[in-house]
Amino acid sequence: MNMKNKSKRAEGYEFVEDKQCERQLFESQKKFVLTGMNIRELESLIETLGEKKFRAKQVQQWIYKGVTEFSQMKNLPKTFLRKLESKSKISSCTIEAVRTSKNDGTKKFLIKLQDDNYIESVFMKYRYGNTICISSQSGCRMGCRFCASTMSGLMRNLSYGEMLEQVLTVENYTGEKINHIVVMGMGEPFDNYQNLAKFIEIVNSKEGLNIGMRNITVSTCGIIPRILNFAEDFPQVNLAISLHATGQNERSAIMPVNDKYKIDELIAACKIYIKKTNRRITFEYALVKDQNDTKQSVENLKKMLKGILCHVNLIPLNYVGEIDMKGSTRKDAERICRELNDSGIKATVRRELGADISGACGQLKLAKKS
Ligand code: SAH
Repeated sequence: MNMKNKSKRAEGYEFVEDKQCERQLFESQKKFVLTGMNIRELESLIETLGEKKFRAKQVQQWIYKGVTEFSQMKNLPKTFLRKLESKSKISSCTIEAVRTSKNDGTKKFLIKLQDDNYIESVFMKYRYGNTICISSQSGCRMGCRFCASTMSGLMRNLSYGEMLEQVLTVENYTGEKINHIVVMGMGEPFDNYQNLAKFIEIVNSKEGLNIGMRNITVSTCGIIPRILNFAEDFPQVNLAISLHATGQNERSAIMPVNDKYKIDELIAACKIYIKKTNRRITFEYALVKDQNDTKQSVENLKKMLKGILCHVNLIPLNYVGEIDMKGSTRKDAERICRELNDSGIKATVRRELGADISGACGQLKLAKKS
């Protein structure tokens, strides 16, 4: 791997929680955003309007049903709704652009946040149901060399309301119910753990979107302390780890996070995770031609994952421009997949959904800037 071009962005950072994220957002707005408010915040807003706090629950039910207009909240008095509308809005995000794949109907959304930052969400149709891939941050500070989302660094964390809005906005636009959520869009979800946790709780709750824990997947570049927290907090949510390399130097050359959280320690943390949760981990492995797809790399991968309850998701690297890395061929990916399966390691090659609409993470936002 080319060590010269290694990004320094992720070196020496601290993983501080953005506890004040939503609070700051509320304060910076003229109107409260109802989607991002918990029941207590809603109750106190409604009380300041001189109304009874039991209305909060009714309002929240409509929000999670995905209404876009106050007038759609049918069981609420018009005078109450007028007051509520004067102080709040239902959502804060707007769709800036949509691209639909001619091949498979995948839809990629460029979404504008109220402070003019951008994020992306992708809607995919699988045999087993509709999936949305959501962003957890605007931008990213992890500095993975092959990833378009990190090229301008981190703008900010998303509030849990903004994560939820992605689901509701896309459901509204497509008219389809979403059954699966993958947190694999822009950003590093474990760098925004508190908002991620609240988002999962709402999505999973009966009063919320009622989506099962096992229908949610979170992908991380390998922030070890959060992997261990996640095993305790959300043992039923699927975990995916972006592995992409098999050696310490090799991985650090493309993923700066690996300097802080070393690959051996990452694998050890995965073993603890599996022991605690009894759940299979997905390892994502983006295949780079003549770099991590060599005979030696595949042997190393087999050795590293032997005996681990896992699934390997092979992804021929998506071209993102400006970088000196090329994806492996589909044929090579399929051969590697067979070799892994033959050695007892479950592997599949990811279907390239939306390849014609800048399928890879952060590409649409990158296109918007240029
Ligand atoms: N930050 C999280 C989730 C976001 S990216 C993580 O690192 O896991 C989702 C997946 O897409 C990750 O596995 C990431 O490494 C991968 N990815 C990013 N850019 C890619 C590209 N150009 N080609 C293939 N996969 C890419």
